[in-house]
Amino acid sequence: MTRLPALTDFRRIVIKVGSSLLVDSDASMLREAWLDTLIDDISSLQRDNRDILVVSSGAIALGRSILKLPCGPLKLEDSQAAAAVGQTELARVWTQMLGRHGMTAGQILVTLGDTEERRRYLNARSTIDKLLEWKCVPVINENDTVATTEIRYGDNDRLAARVATMVSADCLVLLSDIDGLYDAPPGEGRVANLIPLVERITPQIEAMAGTAGSELSRGGMRTKIEAGKIAVSSGTHMVIASGKTLNPLRAILDGARCTWFLTPANPVAARKKWIAGSLEPRGVVFIDAGAVAALRRGKSLLPAGVKRVDGEFQRGDAVIIRDLDGTEIARGLVAYDAADAQKIVGQSSADILSLLGMEGRAEMVHRDDLVMGGG
Ligand code: GLU
Repeated sequence: MTRLPALTDFRRIVIKVGSSLLVDSDASMLREAWLDTLIDDISSLQRDNRDILVVSSGAIALGRSILKLPCGPLKLEDSQAAAAVGQTELARVWTQMLGRHGMTAGQILVTLGDTEERRRYLNARSTIDKLLEWKCVPVINENDTVATTEIRYGDNDRLAARVATMVSADCLVLLSDIDGLYDAPPGEGRVANLIPLVERITPQIEAMAGTAGSELSRGGMRTKIEAGKIAVSSGTHMVIASGKTLNPLRAILDGARCTWFLTPANPVAARKKWIAGSLEPRGVVFIDAGAVAALRRGKSLLPAGVKRVDGEFQRGDAVIIRDLDGTEIARGLVAYDAADAQKIVGQSSADILSLLGMEGRAEMVHRDDLVMGGG
């Protein structure tokens, strides 16, 4: 059997924490002692130079307990208002508890559009990249207060998978009250066995998911499998593990029961495939011979090597990169819109601030956003 991965194999890890772990449904209380042990694990992974991001549910559950709302399903507007109350508390808890371990939280609230639309996606990604560079822990949730039915994920499993692919994480950990995928849906009354490794999500695997979810969290096994599909197709490994134990990440490292979903790709390669294959180029960037040579050595494209730009592109659009004879050299996602790109053509990256009146990326196209050879 293929070797199971270990959390220490990874460089950038997204950890999704389900509502039922943060809020004790009987006592309607925050499970603070447990959270402290999770943060302990996060801190040791971070000290080992790993980027850690948290996707935390719990806004609705906490709001509901603060407002003492009755049990049972909530109407959309009620859950949105409960989330407004709960989210501030959730942010306070993460800030305070990460702070106790010497870490700084940065809250990011996203809606579906922020992960699906390229321009907004790039904005969210650069904010997250900056937080990670500053060694902060991004704490992410859906912006439930404004996300109506049509524009909402509704479950943080898929949201976490989209975040993981957005930041090219190599691992996604889904912590919830379930310790993995079983070969029969829960509640069918027959003995079910945990599946430790899923190498491919087949229709049989999907059938094992059933539909169950618990009252406080929307995602059951079905949304976890959907998350798995998003993750593995973008080069991110995923693990479903129980968060019920103390130090849940250390438990995974120590061999606790869990289900791994393996990806055949690596995140940068998967992203490059996406750039090469699926985007409509919106502009052309002409570069000099020095820049062509730099790109061939695996470098990013700096404004200094650009001679001319054509087209009406926005930041984040795909562009074709050509040499001065017009030969296609590469394709990539451009970090500036056409008007700003015009202003920095041929200039040194150090002058971007004075030319544009704002800080910008040093690269016109970053090497992670670049595919050589064209398509
Ligand atoms: N965004 C919701 C909350 O914070 C949770 C969604 C989910 O349970 O997956 O309450």
